[in-house]
Amino acid sequence: MRITFLGGTETVTGSKFLLETNTTSVLVDCGLYQGYKWLRERNWQTLPIDLSTLDAVILTHAHLDHSGYIPVLYKRGYRGSVFTHHATKDLCQILLADSGHIQEEDAKYYSKHKLSKHQNPEPLYDRQTAEASMALFQSIDFDEQVEVGDIRFHLQPAGHILGAASIIIEAEGKRVGFSGDVGRFDDVLMRPPRPLPELDLLLMESTYGNRQHDPQDAAQQLAMVVNRVAKNGGVLLVPAFAVGRAQALQHLFAELMQTGDIPKLPIYLDSPMAIKVSDIFCRHSEQHRLSHGQCHRLCDLVTYTRTVDESKALAGQAFPHVIIAGSGMATGGRILHHFKRLLSDKRTSVLFTGYQAGGTRGAKMLEGVDAVKIHGSWVPLKAEVDVISGLSGHADYLELTDWLRQSKLPATTPVKLIHGDPEALEGLRVHLQEQTEYRVEVAGYRDILRL
Ligand SMILES: [Zn+2]
Repeated sequence: MRITFLGGTETVTGSKFLLETNTTSVLVDCGLYQGYKWLRERNWQTLPIDLSTLDAVILTHAHLDHSGYIPVLYKRGYRGSVFTHHATKDLCQILLADSGHIQEEDAKYYSKHKLSKHQNPEPLYDRQTAEASMALFQSIDFDEQVEVGDIRFHLQPAGHILGAASIIIEAEGKRVGFSGDVGRFDDVLMRPPRPLPELDLLLMESTYGNRQHDPQDAAQQLAMVVNRVAKNGGVLLVPAFAVGRAQALQHLFAELMQTGDIPKLPIYLDSPMAIKVSDIFCRHSEQHRLSHGQCHRLCDLVTYTRTVDESKALAGQAFPHVIIAGSGMATGGRILHHFKRLLSDKRTSVLFTGYQAGGTRGAKMLEGVDAVKIHGSWVPLKAEVDVISGLSGHADYLELTDWLRQSKLPATTPVKLIHGDPEALEGLRVHLQEQTEYRVEVAGYRDILRL
């Protein structure tokens, strides 16, 4: 068996691992590169895969850094199956179409502002291609055994987000595990990741390989900020990731209002995508911790604003209130319109709900800048800016180590670290080397491993 590392190495994006036997080849994850330009440029390079002989793609979960390259494969002629969990298929239906739409908008922007060396810059793929690629999806259950050529595989729950799985592949008498993104043991919404079976090789994610989550309780932190906003009579603006974080927040709001820890402020969910995801969330209730009642309370709690006109009308609402809108790192989306209107008002609070990558508007605001540039003009920043770190969907390095300890891996199993920034990969390598017996190495881009 041969594994080629085509992405998700030395970075958290672009996950792609080609697994080949003498007769069969499958691609595990098919993610988009995001972030720095030198990484995004790889999305335009030709993959060193003969798509006519690729037998299947298997996805761990729906986040675009694991699924967002599927429409490119489709555009280049791939018509084989994409196997993944039912919930991942449901989420991809929304996320891939939205990604296609964003690629189209970016291409138009580059063309209008002459930012591309090409006369008519093309999108990587458009919405229509993304929608068409959904025909390749074949959704399966956790623990369902699937055979493709001489490869057998199944998915097992990894927490993290709805549908997220570790993939266990058996071929040529060996068993290989792909961790996927690993969730947390005490996540607000998701159930804990299932420990791994015995393996001959593990590819493990390292997003939080050198970081530990803030032990402060997310609910308490949220209550503190909401009460401050209520007292000041301002607006709480929450930039939120549509999948997972928006639902976790809605749930915490509902619980805190129920217990009387925060006043019953109006909450507006100004994200058409998050609204659809919340529906899917309530449909897949077997995967998360919330009861039917809690699920409905979470959806009933907020006022949905779907159209642009409804979103604009929020400017006329009485203070205080809460607006949840994308994007999570304030790099785009409807939250920017509310920022333009409200950041210069010192009664406003902004609450980020996850890790803010370097260079994003979110990271700059947390550093305490005096003004932020939005749509070409500067807006003074007088609002208070906070971040809740307890809502992360990723296990930190201690939780990853605990997960390994609970697993049935023989002590000397080789572990290849993937899906992390260089410091995180190195941090986790050193930690595991000191604390466990596993043979731990960091995987490199385009490395080929024979088993
Ligand atoms: Zn993920």
